[in-house]
Amino acid sequence: MLSVSMNGKRHLLLDRRRFLSGAAGLIAAGVLPQNALALAGPYTFKQGAYDVTVVSDGTLLLDLALFPDAKPEELKALLGAMVQGEKAQFEASPLLLKSGSDVILMDTGSGAGFQPTSGKLVESLKAAGTEAGAITKVIFTHAHPDHLWGNLGADGKPIFANASFHVAETEWNFWTAPDLAGKMPKDMEGMVKNTQAQLAAIKEKVSMFKPGAEVLPGIAVIDTSGHTPGHVSFELAGGDGLIVTADAITNPFVFFAHPDWKFAFDADHATAAANRKKLLDMAATGKKKLLGYHWPYPGIGMAEAKDGAYVYVPVS
Ligand SMILES: [Zn+2]
Repeated sequence: MLSVSMNGKRHLLLDRRRFLSGAAGLIAAGVLPQNALALAGPYTFKQGAYDVTVVSDGTLLLDLALFPDAKPEELKALLGAMVQGEKAQFEASPLLLKSGSDVILMDTGSGAGFQPTSGKLVESLKAAGTEAGAITKVIFTHAHPDHLWGNLGADGKPIFANASFHVAETEWNFWTAPDLAGKMPKDMEGMVKNTQAQLAAIKEKVSMFKPGAEVLPGIAVIDTSGHTPGHVSFELAGGDGLIVTADAITNPFVFFAHPDWKFAFDADHATAAANRKKLLDMAATGKKKLLGYHWPYPGIGMAEAKDGAYVYVPVS
């Protein structure tokens, strides 16, 4: 179940090498776009009881080979301006939610040293007027590096030191299993080790939740496993609802038009595709807004059903 996902993740981790040569040099050499270090946002709106701000962890360059069902030219046409050579520039956008005395963060970005253009969340929070120490609760959609590794600073200490943490039980149990590294390809051991260190650091302050329940008032948990074994999306009450898809739909142009296509970071393709279609159908029939972590900033749009697939209609 893990092999494809892990092969894909290997591409991402190899990009760490480039970090060592420095982002500025990569921009000068034309490897990264001129705006690669510019942070998007912050974009704020009201959803039910929450003031929601789309903050930014920066961007990630992902290999086009991660979409194996797409013909290269078709993929480039779908992704348009996101394409940089044989890679595409994806946003990474955690959410900041405020209600009463709660200051909630949904995912923590990748932390420093993952890719040269990511790990900017603390800076983005500051731009939104929020210090890391002010965060009271952190909710995770899943435990992949670009959503979790910003939990600890380069010194190994928790960045959101005053927060409690909320993780899906299935996701927690999968990644914290003591024998997990042994089941992975050898070169994935480092990734598992860091993920386990990130989770171990919050062990005393973590609460588990399950799909079907509310993780916090007005935030319902939807099972969108497949990308990872315990991946979840969240529906925020208010109006017709807003679904925070996380990585159930990693790109709106590709997967609204082709919900069945594989994404190489999905651990279980069939389950991921079924849950992706479930979200798109919920959104299209219920006129719910969708928000995607990796979609062009701020990544909010509607799904309109068309010819057995969907069309992405940005609303921000
Ligand atoms: Zn992701």
